[in-house]
Amino acid sequence: ETIGANLRRTVAAYGGQEALVEVASGRRWTYAEFGVAVDTFAKGLLARGIRTGDRVGIWAPNCAEWTITQYATATIGAILVNINPAYRTHELSYALNQSGVRLLISATEFKTSDYRAMVDEVRGDCAALEDTVYIGTPDWDAVVAAAGGTTDEQLAAREAELSFDDPINIQYTSGTTGFPKGATLSHHNILNNGYFVTETIGFTTEDRLCIPVPFYHCFGMVMANLGCTTHGACMVIPAPAFDPAATLQAVQDERCTGLYGVPTMFIAELGLPDFADYDLSSLRTGVMAGSPCPIEVMKRCVADMHMAEVAICYGMTETSPVSTQTRRDDDLDRRTSTVGQVMPHVEVKLVDPASGLVVPRGEPGELCTRGYSVMLGYWDDDEKTAEAIDRARWMHTGDLATMRDDGYVNIVGRIKDMVIRGGENVYPREIEEFLYTHPSIADVQVVGVPDAKYGEELCAWIKLKDGADPLDADAVRDFATGKLARYKIPRYVLLVDDFPMTITGKIRKVEMRERSVELLG
Ligand code: ATP
Ligand code: MG
Repeated sequence: ETIGANLRRTVAAYGGQEALVEVASGRRWTYAEFGVAVDTFAKGLLARGIRTGDRVGIWAPNCAEWTITQYATATIGAILVNINPAYRTHELSYALNQSGVRLLISATEFKTSDYRAMVDEVRGDCAALEDTVYIGTPDWDAVVAAAGGTTDEQLAAREAELSFDDPINIQYTSGTTGFPKGATLSHHNILNNGYFVTETIGFTTEDRLCIPVPFYHCFGMVMANLGCTTHGACMVIPAPAFDPAATLQAVQDERCTGLYGVPTMFIAELGLPDFADYDLSSLRTGVMAGSPCPIEVMKRCVADMHMAEVAICYGMTETSPVSTQTRRDDDLDRRTSTVGQVMPHVEVKLVDPASGLVVPRGEPGELCTRGYSVMLGYWDDDEKTAEAIDRARWMHTGDLATMRDDGYVNIVGRIKDMVIRGGENVYPREIEEFLYTHPSIADVQVVGVPDAKYGEELCAWIKLKDGADPLDADAVRDFATGKLARYKIPRYVLLVDDFPMTITGKIRKVEMRERSVELLG
């Protein structure tokens, strides 16, 4: 089934249900209305000459038009290219050129950013870019008006030509470990993944999902949007970009039953001074994913946000994204110490990266996954695709994991972040979890730095709690001695106010390693 066909089924079954709410503008669509908006925009794009496989870029913060564009492009078999709204001209022109975007649908401005000026600046460097449509301007209305030039038969004929294995989406990875790569995804990839994520958390037409996560990333457009439309649930957009107060306000006012977020978003929401004033009693479930979640945060989501059934997911852009997820009736231990078990119709194995052999149960190995969820490949990069997906179609994730006897998976860290000190493998996550228990430490990240004698030494970047006395390497050594093996105790300590982060809130350890070397001289 294609995404367009799937949406048509939902519209036919649940036309009267609410589909989409944009809180900032107060606009609302039922599924019947949403279906019309999508078809109209799809016809307008056809009239504009968009062919099957043409790349249509979208560069905007979360808004209703983003969602309409997502479904309209899939309906006509155009390839949607998600462009991070935090990108600036250098990254924008890279993404537009790398994927060959022909039509760009863009915001005009947001906060202090003038998107139009930036598009004008790069236009001359982007040979494929023929056309731009600015959201909220007469440009958008012109596409809608052009829909009259396409008949229902023409739209149906286009849809009949499409296959669910066609590429319909290019999503750039977060760029945590290097330059973002364009994962090319099919209807089959993301439609199934969106369906199974919310099937696993038990969505029905009664569910209303608050979506503060960005649409340009798979968390928003797949796990949230496709998760809702495959089940006839309602998508609620609390704000164009993440705002903790607006998020909780939307949960309260729209009586949301689900809430998504990366751990840092939940931390911000729980930390609002007036947190207790929001009525969050409608919440039941949600998803927390993207990076490891501190146990205390998970406990508070369950206890103080009523999210008794909140799921933890693990995945990556290249796998549409989710490979493992906790189940509804999992206990707190499974929710806090694992990333769940393998998703339906997906395989997972852990291998020794050197030999390729499956590791014994309980030992760390590279997580490899296979199934409908594995991307078609990196856009226009056969070499990188061949490095990531082997001949038996296993995707090598670059993440190290262990598997418990009950099949639940634990992410140990990225292979690239693993430190080898004097021949011993050290997993920074383990040291970080231990140092968190120090009363003065608010947050901590551990990286390896080159060392002549041991190959690598550990360096801890520490954010102190307000008013805490400064710590040095000696104090950390005293704290850890007797509790951690000596080779796991950081040799260097740097006190910092912030960690280098990606726009999606992930820690950039590559940059930390380089900066550690500079800072330590
Ligand atoms: P790039 O590939 O460009 O370096 P990235 O890998 O951060 O960036 P994404 O595809 O957005 O880009 O993120 C996927 C990665 O996020 C996974 O490979 C994994 O390292 C991490 N991750 C995702 N979910 C979890 C989770 N629940 N717990 C721990 N880590 C996670
Ligand atoms: Mg990655």
